[in-house]
Amino acid sequence: MTFRVLVTDEVALSGLTPLTGDDVFRVSSVDDSASDDFAVELNAAHALIVRSATKVDRDLIDGAVDLRAIGRAGVGLDNVDVGAATERGVAVFNAPGGNTIAAAELTVGLMLSAARGIPAADRSLREKRWKRTSFRGVELKGRTLGLIGAGRIGGEVAIRCQAFGMDVVVYDPYLTEERATELGVVLVEMDEVLARADFVSIHVPLNDETRGICGAEALSRMKTGAYVVNASRGGVVDEVALAKALHDGEIAGAALDVYETEPLPDDSPLRDAPNLVLTPHLGASTVEAQEGVATEVAEKIRVFLTSGDRSAAVNAADLG
Ligand code: NAD
Repeated sequence: MTFRVLVTDEVALSGLTPLTGDDVFRVSSVDDSASDDFAVELNAAHALIVRSATKVDRDLIDGAVDLRAIGRAGVGLDNVDVGAATERGVAVFNAPGGNTIAAAELTVGLMLSAARGIPAADRSLREKRWKRTSFRGVELKGRTLGLIGAGRIGGEVAIRCQAFGMDVVVYDPYLTEERATELGVVLVEMDEVLARADFVSIHVPLNDETRGICGAEALSRMKTGAYVVNASRGGVVDEVALAKALHDGEIAGAALDVYETEPLPDDSPLRDAPNLVLTPHLGASTVEAQEGVATEVAEKIRVFLTSGDRSAAVNAADLG
């Protein structure tokens, strides 16, 4: 049997070698999921691979009669109706590991950008100014990094920051002592992270427990010289409270890659907050990460279609 796999949303084709390297799969790529070509291909597809642009909703799933698997080349499943897929017996796969290094490296870049005012210095120079004394920053060496969440990305951030000579303390109620020891970090309570950290970096999933975890109260417990970095999910930082803390000088600076509402609304209070570095959700935007997430999800789909093993599906438990 030949399995037909439809790929859209400019998924990195170079990463699909688990599928394209095997004759048992026929991979077709249609970038515009609103086109007639896409509808024709979807009708015959056994698997669909998307990034975040295509809304894989109930109508799309119900209309794809042969569909057995949906792959999201990335981690977030906001654009996939997992419930509707489960009802139809369609396995859903994502790729949480492929962009870990990209997100960790961006986090360190954001820390350095905030600590040294690099984006503001660049803007100033382009405006034909030469303001050297305005951009006196701080060094990472000898400072304490406080991680909130030290899973895949937080762990990689810890390793990189240790290379800068930082001490790392972590609040993560689900991290084992064994893993903490392996990472060379100290597990502490949230209050201690906030009190001790010169840089607080957040790497948690967004859920009811973590929403607003960095709000007015947490910000008020931080050192006045502290920097906050968030490249995890919008919603874990209270943006109004952060803008106020920056205006009031409660903390020294911050850097964000993710926002409660994306794209960031024109009237967001973040836009004119001082000492704040903003990037438009670039955590996974590297050549390597885009290939990595494509390969990860393609491999899961290859295993599933050829063996029926759906243990890697996010809805494996509900598929029965
Ligand atoms: P992960 O699941 O490997 O790690 C998350 C960690 O958070 C775990 O160790 C978990 O125990 C911990 N955690 C859960 N609840 C917590 C709580 N209440 N308090 C403290 N710690 C808690 O996830 P990951 O791959 O490291 O991703 C981390 C975040 O980064 C996710 O939100 C992910 O969506 C996001 N992400 C963003 C980008 C980007 O483009 N900016 C790219 C990739 C991932």
